[in-house]
Amino acid sequence: MKILIARLNHETNTFSPVPTPLASFAPAYGDAACRAAKGTRTAAAAFIDLAEAAGAEIVVPVIAGANPSGRVAADAYTHLCDTIIAAAHGCDAVMLDLHGAMVAENSDDGEGDLLRRLREVLPHAPVAVALDLHGNITQTLVDHADIAVSFKTYPHVDMYETGAHAGRLLLDMVAGRVRPVMAWRRPPLITHTLRSRTDEGAMLRAVALARDAERDGMLAVSVLAGFGLADIAAPCLSVIVVGDGDQAKADEVASRIAAQAWAERDAFAYQAEPLASSIRRAAQLAGADSADARPVLLLDHGDNCMSGGTCDNMAVLHEALAQGLTGIAVGPVCDPEAVAALVDAGVGASITLPVGDKVPLPQLDVYPQAKPLTGKVAAISDGEYIITGPTYTGQRIRMGRTALLDIGAAQVVVTETPQEHWDMGIFTHIGIDPHRAKFLLLKSRMYCRPVFVPIAKALVECDGEGVTSSRYERFPFRQVSRPVYPLDDTAAWAG
Ligand SMILES: [Zn+2]
Repeated sequence: MKILIARLNHETNTFSPVPTPLASFAPAYGDAACRAAKGTRTAAAAFIDLAEAAGAEIVVPVIAGANPSGRVAADAYTHLCDTIIAAAHGCDAVMLDLHGAMVAENSDDGEGDLLRRLREVLPHAPVAVALDLHGNITQTLVDHADIAVSFKTYPHVDMYETGAHAGRLLLDMVAGRVRPVMAWRRPPLITHTLRSRTDEGAMLRAVALARDAERDGMLAVSVLAGFGLADIAAPCLSVIVVGDGDQAKADEVASRIAAQAWAERDAFAYQAEPLASSIRRAAQLAGADSADARPVLLLDHGDNCMSGGTCDNMAVLHEALAQGLTGIAVGPVCDPEAVAALVDAGVGASITLPVGDKVPLPQLDVYPQAKPLTGKVAAISDGEYIITGPTYTGQRIRMGRTALLDIGAAQVVVTETPQEHWDMGIFTHIGIDPHRAKFLLLKSRMYCRPVFVPIAKALVECDGEGVTSSRYERFPFRQVSRPVYPLDDTAAWAG
């Protein structure tokens, strides 16, 4: 048996101006691809382990994943899909590690279009896909896969387990032990990322129903929150049930779980607090207990790195400075131009320069005006550190050249690339001890939490002005089928 295994992963914020060229995927091909995936916590690694254990011949044409950003460049999308299709000839089964929310310049349904092409060249090979919990599912994807399973956790920790689940079902299907049938329901419900955590609220309850249904005999039950920052027909919540031969039963389970999510739709919406009042609240929290010197986290969820944010929007810092907050450690702000100027000036130099607010957000009609900051160049680094935190432990992070600008009230870390806060190294590598800050302003809404929440006395979500804003009314949705909740009060779903 010859099994095709590949990973192609991108969550696309179609409103983001951050480009997604081929280089962003850092693709690995052939033997290098297999080596790149093996031993990681990805679904692809689970596929490889399962296929090896089954004694199958393995073909891994490409392993490619990019951080969230704007639409995937057309040539990159075409090349990556062509690479997978070209390797399909002669394969008996397919296991794909996909995201589910990929949008390219030349495809509104990145995964669906890939699966449709694959089925054209391999009409008889069973196909299993592992998906992110934030995948936007389409009829095309469901039509051209036999098995689809998504993560059940957010923050995501079960990528490998999801791959193992989907891959095991595929091997069972090939061996004739199961007869997968899929049911799919997609109410017109755009959820908010901050409401898709699986440890609280409506998402926790929906995933609990999914687990119950699996215990009751369904082969796999997935609740996908979808990813709302995509101007496609339906960036909506989905339920996918893989049943064993009984379509009616799978349909019933999918309908029941989707109906519960729809009934709880209010709980998937997020009411953003005005920025000025978030900053006021943060100041009160910082002053509330003088014996507790731990920092207050300011999470800029409007410019969230891992949802396609430019990481250069300065609204939160400027509001904090305007309200007189001090002791702020900020970072990293992505501004290669400012880094070059700070490096040229050198450590110890006093300097006034515009920092951040340079990338226009044309789709939101936001054209920021960079304001000058005055301070001293406190440190310069190569921007490299090794993660010690729980996510991606041991991985070396290369942020590009990095400078620390001390403006008195704030210490501002400025980098050449957008950076998620996987680790405190983002601050410590350049001489800032985050424990000693009064406020930590992070361009992260979720992935910073395992590292920074334990050292903080409080957390305040701040609605900055970026392309990951929580105010959906700011986004020019043109392709989305209306009515849809929460954009339209008239949205209805019959189940
Ligand atoms: Zn996700």
